[in-house]
Amino acid sequence: MPQIAIPAPSLPQNHDAIYITNSSNRGRCVHAIQNFPSRHKIIVEQPAISCVHWRQGKWMRTIGDEWEKRSVEARLRLQQTFKKLEDIPSDTRLTKQERKQLNKFVKEYAFWDSKGTNAHIYRLASHINHACARHANAEQWTDSAYPNYITVRLVKDVRADEEIFINYNKGHMPFGCPFCVPRSDKPRAENKGNGSFG
Ligand SMILES: [Zn+2]
Repeated sequence: MPQIAIPAPSLPQNHDAIYITNSSNRGRCVHAIQNFPSRHKIIVEQPAISCVHWRQGKWMRTIGDEWEKRSVEARLRLQQTFKKLEDIPSDTRLTKQERKQLNKFVKEYAFWDSKGTNAHIYRLASHINHACARHANAEQWTDSAYPNYITVRLVKDVRADEEIFINYNKGHMPFGCPFCVPRSDKPRAENKGNGSFG
């Protein structure tokens, strides 16, 4: 190969850059499709659904409302993406119990913007597992402004099929870094929330 400077080909993002697998003990996992250099923005996407952050006091009502506002088709699409939504009805009003289930889902899967006012769930990024700051190979931030893109950028070189990990930035979590703690047999515990540094 001639050693001349050629512009780097633009690297794929989103569905062309990652794939999602099911692990037996950690829920869904996100992997790189090919080798990527550090600093590549591997995912840039808009939320699949958003609601008011529960710390704002109104969220108990809001995620259920957001769900009911969606068309049946849109709700079915969300259910295909998120296994945890399978039991939520797609064509009727929600019961109190179902609203509770939705709240729990948001707590596990949402990222919130830097102002902590809104919680966003992303089709791809919300499936990324946690690792400690030392072992995470990617970082993320969520735009406070509409349309609330999340950006997931690699902080290490990543090889094809390697799993992507981010640090959720939560002070206390019921699950640990898979590289630092012995694997437990428990399924991936209550996931997410994050923090953001955007
Ligand atoms: Zn670790």
